[in-house]
Amino acid sequence: MAFPMQLTVFPAPTSPTANLDHGHDHGGCRTKALQTAEQLCNNRGVRLTPMRRQVLELIWESHRAIKAYDLLDRIKPTTGTAKPATVYRALDFLLEQGLIHKVESLNAFIGCSFSDHQHQQLLLTCIRCLEVEERPAAGVMEAIDRELEQAAFIIHHKAIEIHGICIRCAKHPPITATI
Ligand SMILES: [Zn+2]
Ligand SMILES: [Zn+2]
Ligand SMILES: [Zn+2]
Repeated sequence: MAFPMQLTVFPAPTSPTANLDHGHDHGGCRTKALQTAEQLCNNRGVRLTPMRRQVLELIWESHRAIKAYDLLDRIKPTTGTAKPATVYRALDFLLEQGLIHKVESLNAFIGCSFSDHQHQQLLLTCIRCLEVEERPAAGVMEAIDRELEQAAFIIHHKAIEIHGICIRCAKHPPITATI
């Protein structure tokens, strides 16, 4: 039987069907993340302004890492056009509050799945779909801490990024390889 030349196209972030992102109820992830963000900001006495919220919502449209200029393209301020500085300030705020993470290797951002508690990140980046899975990986982090202690190295920031192919893409390899 001939293999149908059907392309595996992941839903565009703006697609209304993007709720069922990669086989899970992503609407649930997004709602939970936004509720947690509201709560954390309330508890800390900081404001999740409409711009900050909009940036967070856009980042949470999927688990794909998104670059600042893509965010900028898609921000719709209530008046005028979004200024890069405004978006960068919103990103800084979200980073400071631990609501998002920067994926340094992609120079892009993802929503944090564990923002309600302190953690360090093992970020598994899929080079096909660009989804990033965040795992606290306590065992890995402890092992690294021991190494750093031996090296008397003072940590400022610790996140480990690994590039590879996620389980969904491994099972359903897209025919169109973009990378
Ligand atoms: Zn999700
Ligand atoms: Zn996180
Ligand atoms: Zn993937």
